[in-house]
Amino acid sequence: MKKNALIILAAGESQRFDKTLQKQFIKIGKYNPIEHILNNIKNNKEISNIVIVFNKNQTSKIKKIIKKYKDLKIILTKGGKNRQESSFNGLKAIKKINPKKVLIHDACRPYILNSEINKIINKLDKYDACAPIIKNVDLVRIKNQNDFNEFKSDLYLIQTPQGFNYKKIFNAHLEYPYINSKDDIELLNNKINKINYIQGNKKNIKITYYNDIKFFDFLDIKSIKYGIGYDIHKINFNSKKKLILCGHKINFYPLIGHSDADVGYHAICDSIFGALGIGDIGKFFNDKNPKWKNVNSKIFLLFAKNKLNEKNYEILNIDINFICEKPKISKYSYKMIENISKILKIKKSKINIKATTNEKVSFIGRGEAIAAESIVCISK
Ligand code: ZN
Repeated sequence: MKKNALIILAAGESQRFDKTLQKQFIKIGKYNPIEHILNNIKNNKEISNIVIVFNKNQTSKIKKIIKKYKDLKIILTKGGKNRQESSFNGLKAIKKINPKKVLIHDACRPYILNSEINKIINKLDKYDACAPIIKNVDLVRIKNQNDFNEFKSDLYLIQTPQGFNYKKIFNAHLEYPYINSKDDIELLNNKINKINYIQGNKKNIKITYYNDIKFFDFLDIKSIKYGIGYDIHKINFNSKKKLILCGHKINFYPLIGHSDADVGYHAICDSIFGALGIGDIGKFFNDKNPKWKNVNSKIFLLFAKNKLNEKNYEILNIDINFICEKPKISKYSYKMIENISKILKIKKSKINIKATTNEKVSFIGRGEAIAAESIVCISK
């Protein structure tokens, strides 16, 4: 394993943020910025050790986070009076490990890319330091009392992670302990050290104000998929049994089918299987198999729910449409929504049921069959 380390600076006081919160612990979707960083880098083979520099008031919070990352070699060390001191504390914490290369990253930049990390690590074969930068393309003016004067030179925004030869940056911190630098590259002397700059990543913004977290909505949803399902069953006018739609018993003629012929559940199952890309209901529950004769279709829906869990998907919404002349679906839709909500363990507000007739046209229009269609949206 390569001996490269990543230092995450998470000791900041968040003075420009909400006073009661600290931005490194604010949830963006399911995770806080520190967790987003750890999730992104946890499989990166270039990094062997991680240091988290934290504020001693946040000990319990930080310990709770690292419990979830038992496979990673994480060292915790306390922050200093300012960023520079915190960064030096991080470097000191891995002195025994003596990594060849080290990356220093601010915890308030949750969108760190492995491609960027690997590029920086590669550059450190030739250079003493490497940092991502973005050329400012907006017009810049400098405020001078009531005037805004044009600033003519090019401006660059410097980001983290910044990468260094470990010994060089350690010695620079030793040599210049009092400048209170806002990043680490500032401590290196470009006349002595070979410094390289690479193109930064615009999404890797720094959370400074509370509203900045809205920029990271995209971190929350990684994959969205849709699925469609359709089913139709004939009505049995000679049976004394009752109709079952989405698990709800209705005082009407039942449908003909191998199972309980719950056309609603069958359409939902097919939409889920479709969204997951794993085929259709017939593949899992063959209608020639006596095992499924007269069964409650709830078991098919529970099976679909397990498939979603296995693949870590959750349902964002389901829209179900019944097509029939009779019965009047709206009377029962609340009960049906309740049943679906219980089985799929989703809020009722995520489920919609509506119905239409077939305007007396064809066999549905003649009242001979009931059809249902379902569209589901899933995400992980
Ligand atoms: Zn069916």
